[in-house]
Amino acid sequence: MTATSSGHRGLVMEEPLLFEQDADGRTGVDLPDAEGRKPRLGGLERKARIGLPGLSEPQIVRHFTRLSQKNYAIDSGFYPLGSCTMKHNPRLNEKMVRLPGFSMAHPLQPQQTVQGCLELISTLAHWITTLTGMPGVAMSPAAGAHGELAGLMTIRAALTARGDARKTVLVPESAHGTNPATAALCDYKVESIPANERGRIDVDALKAAMSEDVAALMLTNPNTCGLFENEILEVADVLHDAGAFFYGDGANFNAIVGRVRPGDLGIDAMHLNLHKTFSTPHGGGGPGSGPVVLSEPLIPYAPLPYVVADGDGFRMVEHDDSGDSFGRLRSFHGQMGMFVRALAYMMSHGADGLRMVAEDAILNANYVMARLKDSYNVPFPGPCMHECLFDDHSLKDTGVTTLDIAKGMIDEGFHPMTMYFPLVVHGAMLIEPTETESKASVDQFCDTMLHLMERAQSGDADWFHEAPHLAPWRRLDETAAARRPVLTWKPEEEKGEAA
Ligand SMILES: *Cc1c(COP(=O)(O)O)cnc(C)c1O
Repeated sequence: MTATSSGHRGLVMEEPLLFEQDADGRTGVDLPDAEGRKPRLGGLERKARIGLPGLSEPQIVRHFTRLSQKNYAIDSGFYPLGSCTMKHNPRLNEKMVRLPGFSMAHPLQPQQTVQGCLELISTLAHWITTLTGMPGVAMSPAAGAHGELAGLMTIRAALTARGDARKTVLVPESAHGTNPATAALCDYKVESIPANERGRIDVDALKAAMSEDVAALMLTNPNTCGLFENEILEVADVLHDAGAFFYGDGANFNAIVGRVRPGDLGIDAMHLNLHKTFSTPHGGGGPGSGPVVLSEPLIPYAPLPYVVADGDGFRMVEHDDSGDSFGRLRSFHGQMGMFVRALAYMMSHGADGLRMVAEDAILNANYVMARLKDSYNVPFPGPCMHECLFDDHSLKDTGVTTLDIAKGMIDEGFHPMTMYFPLVVHGAMLIEPTETESKASVDQFCDTMLHLMERAQSGDADWFHEAPHLAPWRRLDETAAARRPVLTWKPEEEKGEAA
């Protein structure tokens, strides 16, 4: 790479941190000196500078605009991250959520002044229970993992109410990491159930693991190998016969929305990721929302608060007189912005449109698999659901790993697929194109993936080990970034060992 005198490379700017750009007395807003101001904080006034950098407005605008340009986003390109459903967010949703009645509402407003918001939550709850075939839904969880927590706490409350102190939660090997984490957070012992040779839960192993101590099984369907758990009815029977509950992880609902109702599969509790299936932005782009649907026996134990129709209007129920509810999970009522976006998405698609979402998502994933399968090894052959799974068998003896392929994809202008997950296959590459990609963009992606495998197999390992060659930053120490993040800035002269 040619060095430049500025350190910039083309439009990729090399700039100091905001704190390093600090200049004494510089400010973005020009306020008059506050003369004769009386202290209002009863002696708790600030005694020293809090160390915010002095910056002008254009400096700040440029800094954050540049940072946003370094981000990869669904709005900038194909985002095949398996298990995440990174699909296009229709701008209609954004228009709806910016209506002042929604965007300016405050959660502490008197309820009679936010009747429209309460009606929207109630209408969305109706769509969710209809789509899932479940009688109840708790709307407040703030993400998928939070929905899992709500679901397991509801199950635990129901078990406690019947005097049943079960201690074990079963989780298949292929599960998303949040499943065992949630069970552990609820003080359950986590027992892993192996997958069979078809990539589905091993029902015999499940039967062998069942006992009076099992509170629940947490199962994702379609599972994280992109496969439909076709023995799910038997799984439900095994659980219910032993007095256990069936928790469904609904993160992959995109693949079955409008086609399969989890309520018909014997599921007792399941979270939906509104920010996956119903297109609201997530990851770095916004908050999540993870309503959890519940079967009849679990409804009394659901978290507070919830909306009910009351006369001509709606009312948020904040207290539970029966004492059955396990209580509050978070402040306020849920992620209002996500509710508006999700309902806008559902209503603009309609029943037929939502069914098409699932069909097209599956069609695109199977198209990717068909195009790549002679080049990338498919561990569980046969049609997939909304995502397709490859392992690293085809990279054997090339010196190139799954990680190297991912880094090569960055040079080619693609966000990497999900890698090394699920754990049931070696060097996993999980690709979810979603239904919003055109055939042209899926083809461009497949051409690139085929090219990368050809490059790996032709002995070009050195190129891969140096990739990404074209990104602003190369290979970062991801472990250190996660385990020892540097979250406070210190001037150069104060930096000690710890920095
Ligand atoms: C995304 C996902 C989750 C967690 O959802 P968050 O909203 O990220 O907390 C759980 N399970 C599966 C299978 C997922 O894909």
